[in-house]
Amino acid sequence: MHLAKIGIVNPIWSRKLPSEPSSVTVTKDCANRYFLSFVVELQPIQVEAKNPSIGIDLGIKTFAVMSNGDQAESPSYKKLDRKVRKLQRKLARQPKDSRRRNVTRIRIAKLHNQIADTRKDFLHKFSTKIVNENQVIVLEDLNVSGMVKNRKLSRAISQQGWYEFRTLCEAKSEKFGREFKVISRWEPTSQVCADCGFKWGKIDLSIRSVLCLSCGTLADRDENAARNIEMVGMGHRHDLKCTVRQSKTMKGSISR
Ligand SMILES: [Zn+2]
Repeated sequence: MHLAKIGIVNPIWSRKLPSEPSSVTVTKDCANRYFLSFVVELQPIQVEAKNPSIGIDLGIKTFAVMSNGDQAESPSYKKLDRKVRKLQRKLARQPKDSRRRNVTRIRIAKLHNQIADTRKDFLHKFSTKIVNENQVIVLEDLNVSGMVKNRKLSRAISQQGWYEFRTLCEAKSEKFGREFKVISRWEPTSQVCADCGFKWGKIDLSIRSVLCLSCGTLADRDENAARNIEMVGMGHRHDLKCTVRQSKTMKGSISR
């Protein structure tokens, strides 16, 4: 390939260009890698969604739990993280302006890139799948900045990429003619039974499954939350009084 002012380059293609590009941008990152980005014109392909709607609960241990019970695990960065920390300790010991220090610096930058690439790849693939399969996508608005202030959680949260995931879902929803919704983080999605609407109140994060005292359903905490997120997003709210009364009659009929 020939680029003006640069000459012949032989890039590694991440994918085939779908049409003739109208421009190209060359960038270099701190690990000395060069990137070419092309601007191409595309006609969006409209695919009909398999499901009418989905609610997604984002978490730290499991990246996402969906209202249909599916789960998505994020890739593990533990090994790479350990390598980074080891190199950072090494860097701290090396004299400033030394050649070896510079080598360490580039190795750290490369590892950071590797982590970022792995995460980006996962978030792209997962958001594409979600948007392809569902007509309405509902997420919960998370107080990410507030949570990142908690130092224990901050590393895990920034690594998960919740915000990037949301941005990707939103952009892809627009591209594929889907509806993207975010519900308020004040909705008590983990305090209410998704089956009967009974409010059991705040439960500790360590509790992973809840047995509803009103309807007797044993629900996974995150799946229950995801189902509530979907319901709130779709505008179906539990009428508390009504459902409690109904579940009481149900119980009565079972005992009889
Ligand atoms: Zn219930």
